[in-house]
Amino acid sequence: MKEHEIYPLLPIVKGDGLYLIDDQGNRYMDAVSSWWVNLFGHGRSEIKTAIQQQADQLEQVIFAGCSNIPAIELAEKLIQLTPKTLDRVFYADCGSAAVEVALKMSFQYWKNIGQPEKQRFIALENGYHGETMGALSVGDVALYKETYGPMLFETIMAPSPDCYYREEGESWYDYSLRQSDKMAELLEQHHHEVAAVILEPLVQCAGNMRMYHPIYLTRVRQLCDQYNVHLIFDEIAVGFGRTGTMFACEQADVVPDFMCVSKGITGGFLPLAAVVTHDSIYQAFYDDYATLKGFLHSHSYTGNALACAAGVATLDIFAKHNVLADNQILINKLSQVAERFKQHPNVGDVRQTGMILAIEMVKNKATKEAFDWRERRGIKVYQYALTQGALLRPLANVVYMMPPYVITEDEIERLAEIAWQGINLAADAD
Ligand SMILES: *Cc1c(COP(=O)(O)O)cnc(C)c1O
Repeated sequence: MKEHEIYPLLPIVKGDGLYLIDDQGNRYMDAVSSWWVNLFGHGRSEIKTAIQQQADQLEQVIFAGCSNIPAIELAEKLIQLTPKTLDRVFYADCGSAAVEVALKMSFQYWKNIGQPEKQRFIALENGYHGETMGALSVGDVALYKETYGPMLFETIMAPSPDCYYREEGESWYDYSLRQSDKMAELLEQHHHEVAAVILEPLVQCAGNMRMYHPIYLTRVRQLCDQYNVHLIFDEIAVGFGRTGTMFACEQADVVPDFMCVSKGITGGFLPLAAVVTHDSIYQAFYDDYATLKGFLHSHSYTGNALACAAGVATLDIFAKHNVLADNQILINKLSQVAERFKQHPNVGDVRQTGMILAIEMVKNKATKEAFDWRERRGIKVYQYALTQGALLRPLANVVYMMPPYVITEDEIERLAEIAWQGINLAADAD
């Protein structure tokens, strides 16, 4: 909080498509989709109207013993949209809660079917799955995790397939495949005690937008099948078109046992999350009350009718418009503006997966030596961008664009120009 003596909070009073507007009427391009939740711009009319209409009918009802229409509709749409064999939905109210649900469900599944020794989880180094205790336990971003270490359960960490550290001349494919050998070793060694592998497919977003090749997902799916271990994909950040496909897992043509979705699910209007899984998992919990095999997990706002109505409206936008095909134009534009940054003396890596473009600032381009984190170069880019009408909030020294899909090609160019000037300024600052 002390930071805000130097960096005052932005009082945002209105949203308008790509733009956020402060109390002085200044407009800022929301280059980070308000922490990756916004898909179709602020104030998108179809979603706004759906929430208003739902509020006229029903805002919320207990989700035990009762259901509601938007919750049912959204579940039906989700199972249509997700890979074919995922056909059961469990709601939660934020991404972290969805991760807790997936972990608990996997854990209890093995208990219910008589393999209670499968209690541990394998996760990826540099992964991020949220801020609650289970999610932090399977996460690996030290900044968020370290303080709470003594409170957390122990997770088996596999080296990340993130291609930033690949050898000179090595392809993403070769590097990510090579990294999967370590996962194979860990599974061979621990599978009897492991319930599930959890990972973020293709992009480790909170872990500085590090990216990898889909071959890793293909290999891990094979390994999980071979060793009888669940595979949990945390698509909370990458789902709903961010990587170019509706879900990241489609690029590897694999299906996880549990898929966690949130963030974009309501177009960025209301908090909501879901875990989508197979009927075979559901069946392991389906039994007489006295067997206590049921999944006793609930949140007060589970299946909230307003949030689900926003979710239905969001998925309807995907159904009515060629969102993914149209985004291809924006993806190409992002690739085009990316080129310039590759030559910058303080840029160590420029990487892109679909609608996510990340530019990593370094002290030394040749060795990729990082700037000292205490120098906080990223904040300098952020501050400069604000003066130019863009909310471009970096992750440490990684400047990235993950814009709402309503951005235009011209606006991408403008953002890139602001990022370029901001990086020049930050790299030269002392
Ligand atoms: C944001 C995020 C979460 C946590 O979601 P919250 O809604 O912030 O709790 C979990 N996993 C990934 C990959 C995320 O990006």
